[in-house]
Order: sequence, then C-alpha cells, then structure tokens
Amino acid sequence: MKKEIGIIGLGVMGCALARNFGRNGISLALYNRHLSGSEEKVALRAIQEHTELKKAQGFEEVKEFIEALERPRKIILMVTAGEAVDHLLSSLSGLLHPGDLIIDGGNSDFKSTEKRLNTLLDSGVLFLGLGVSGGEEGALNGPSLMAGGSREAYELAHPYLSRIAAITPSTNKALAYFGSGGSGHFVKMVHNAIEYAEMQLIAEAYLFLRNVLGMKTDEIGAVFDAWKASHSKSYLLEITSEILQTKDEHGFVLDRIAPIASYNQTGASALIEGALSGQPLSMVASALFTRFISNQKPPQAEVSSLKRTHSKTISIETLHKAYAFARIVNHYQHFSMINASAYHYRWDIKPNDLCEVWSAGCIIRSSLLERLAQAKTVETPLFFNSEIQSELSTSKEELKAVLNAAYQSDIALPGLSNALNYYLQLTADDPSAALVQAQRDYFGAHGVYFKEEANRLVHYPWKA
Ligand code: NAP
Repeated sequence: MKKEIGIIGLGVMGCALARNFGRNGISLALYNRHLSGSEEKVALRAIQEHTELKKAQGFEEVKEFIEALERPRKIILMVTAGEAVDHLLSSLSGLLHPGDLIIDGGNSDFKSTEKRLNTLLDSGVLFLGLGVSGGEEGALNGPSLMAGGSREAYELAHPYLSRIAAITPSTNKALAYFGSGGSGHFVKMVHNAIEYAEMQLIAEAYLFLRNVLGMKTDEIGAVFDAWKASHSKSYLLEITSEILQTKDEHGFVLDRIAPIASYNQTGASALIEGALSGQPLSMVASALFTRFISNQKPPQAEVSSLKRTHSKTISIETLHKAYAFARIVNHYQHFSMINASAYHYRWDIKPNDLCEVWSAGCIIRSSLLERLAQAKTVETPLFFNSEIQSELSTSKEELKAVLNAAYQSDIALPGLSNALNYYLQLTADDPSAALVQAQRDYFGAHGVYFKEEANRLVHYPWKA
C-alpha cells in the first residue's frame, strides 16, 4: 500500500510531526539523508524507537521514498532552512509529477518561499510554505500551523494538516491559510518576533524582581506562578515559572546558566522586513539587541562595579501592570506590521484569524491572544479600543515608576522602556519629526509638508 504523506528530515521537529501523523492514523514514508559515519539509518531508527511510527516505512534513497507515496504525492520538508531546502527541491524536481505537493514546514525566509514557488510554477508541482509553531512538544501533540501558497496546494494538504493541528479554546483547529506566496512563512516570522519580545519582557520582569527588589530565584518563581493564573497567563510564563523552580543537588539550575543568549534568523528577518517597510518594530529590536549585547559583555570587573542597590518602593503589582502594558504594545506593533504587509502583498491575513491560530499549540499562546481573538473588529485599532486604551493610560504610570526604580539601580530594561517610548511617540504631541524633515529639506531639498497642505511636498528656500 502506498503511503499518504512523506516526511523528509527526521530531526527534532520532523520526528515529532511524524509521530503526530502516525498517532492520527495517517500512513507515512520517512526519509532522512545518509551521511556515512554520522547520519545512518535515521528514519529506520525513528520507526524502531516510536510506537506511533510502527506502520511507517523508512528510506535513505530519495527515489525509493518518492515511489512509496500515493499520487498526488504530499511531501513535507522538515529540514534546516536555507540551502538544504533548495538542495532537496532540486533532488526532488525530476522525480515528481504535476499536481504533486511539497510542503516546506521549516522556518524558511518568506521571500525564499516566493522564489521557490516561482521556480516550481512551470513544473506544475504545488508548493506550500507552512509555518509550524510549538516546538517539539507542539509538533508532537498539536502544533499551530500557518499556511501560504496556492489555494489548490492548501486544499490538498488541509485534510492531513487538520488532523494534527492543535485545538483552540474556541474548538477550532489551529490551522489557517493566509494567502498566496510566502504568507505562511511571513506570519511565522512575525510570530517568532512576538515570541522574542515576549521572552525579553519576562526576562526583564525577572531582572527587576531579582536586582531591584532583591528577590530570590524561588520567590520570583512564585510571582510568575501567580501571574500565570491571571490575565497574563501564557505558555512562556508557565515554562518560565517551571524553569525558576527547577533545582538539583547543586541548587537552582538557572543560577548556574551563563547569561549569554543565542538567536537564529527569524527575529532579525522580521526586524529587517519591518525596517524596509517602515514598520517600527522596536520591541523585537530591543529583544534581539539584548541577545547581541549578552554576547559582548565587558570584562567582569567593569560589570561588577555597576551600582547594585535594592529598592523596595515598587510593588509586584506595579511591575505586573508595567509588564502587561508592554505586552500590548508588543502585539500592537506586530499586528500593525502584518496589516501593512498584508495590504502590500495582497494577502488575506485577518488579525482575528491570527489570534485564533495563535491561541493554541504555539509558543506565544496566551490569554491576551484569546481576548484579542474575541474582539469584534478585525482592524489593528482593536488593540487601542477604549477598554485597552484606558488600561494603557493607567498602567503607563506604573511603567514609569518601574523604569525610574530600575535606572536608580543601574538596571536597563530595554523592552519595557521601548514600550513606553513607542506609546508616548504614538500618542503624545511630538513636533520633533517636523525638525528632522526641515533638516532633510535644508541639506537635501527633500521637501516638507506644511500643516495646512499636508499632501503636498514643497521645498522651502532656507538659504535664500
Ligand atoms: P534539526 O533537529 O536540526 O533537524 C534538521 C533536519 O534537517 C535533520 O533531519 C537534518 O538531517 C536535515 N538536514 C539538514 N541539512 C540537510 C541537507 N542538506 N539535506 C537533507 N537534510 C538536511 O532541526 P529541527 O529543530 O527539527 O528544525 C527543522 C526545521 O523546523 C527548521 O527549519 C527549523 O527552523 C524549523 N522549526 C524548528 C522549531 C524548533 O523548536 N526546533 C520550531 C519550529 C520550526 P541530518 O539529521 O542528516 O543532519
């Protein structure tokens, strides 16, 4: 019997997804490359190790793998993004037929997905860019899936993807189609950018509780435990409180981890795409730059000469409100970017659909997204509806108090301070851009917009 789905790449994600398909009764052909001495019989070993895969067939030869699949073939690539994808597409190209489908489930750059779609167009082979979120556990038990490509490709994949996707709190599947081209990978990229900033904000709350309020690791764990039972509930907060309470014979594990954070491409790609399209993604920028700086710390002597005083003047509730403020700004910035890009690329990305797809299975799932998913309007200003607006204008004062206390202790909170800066810049009377534009006009004759005629760019004769 030919197999329904083929999976290429049995690393962390490929293996977990395969087990999810297997558990849901979908027959599988599994392929992993053969590298003598290092990668041998990977697919066969996965089948032996996991009961969900006992009916799957394993391969190390692409041609045999392809022949084991029913037509039209449906093949999921779960490999390292970049060259590996192009390399596999060229190995597959002569072996597939019009109507066969390749799904790229890795974190590919959305513009590369668009190029690959165009390259495959003449062959008649369908291509779907699929953002998969939830890490290994999500892939195994129910990921959040974000698809982009042709509608025909999505419809062919849908019956299978819908069986493995997570179930959202409103009982839908965490699976959606966002339009043509690279829309699925674009949405996944933005998801990861939100994730970067969410992680940074939790890390800053931890830093404040530790270095400003002088709390111990387990006490901070208890604070996050309480927050995760509140309106701030999120998957990232849950895992953080678990991390903070993890102890072994040497004490708290976190206290032994060096303060160096790594990164991969999606955060930077989102920031670059935002910058090139005029979207001020300062929240992901601060998260990413903090990771960069953690790799460039000055010698320890200099670090320890910084001031370390504990101030008890700020309550934990004040910090909680400051944290909630910054999370709203983080979501607002990224949904604004999605709206602008959806318009530019003509994608059908509705913020409410996104909130729904991201409310289960993925790393950024949270009660905030559930709340936003229930909002009636689909436009970005839903984040600034009257209820949220009034929350922001009261918690702004809390955020200022937190930042003041942090600076008194020589503590930088870049995510929280960027959230406040962004909010103030958006909402306060700020004539500074008029001066910048006048400077541009003075030296470069770029023109200015006079208030009484805001649509017309005119050069003012400054030097006359
Ligand atoms: P992984 O454990 O490192 O596995 C990578 C897989 O790609 C392995 O099967 C590897 O084969 C294969 N591969 C690499 N280069 C190849 C090449 N040139 N030709 C053929 N196969 C090649 O990575 P992963 O975590 O499963 O991630 C897979 C994809 O999912 C990536 O795009 C990643 O960004 C994305 N993703 C990961 C997560 C996560 O939490 N890990 C979440 C969402 C999305 P070998 O074993 O032979 O090296």
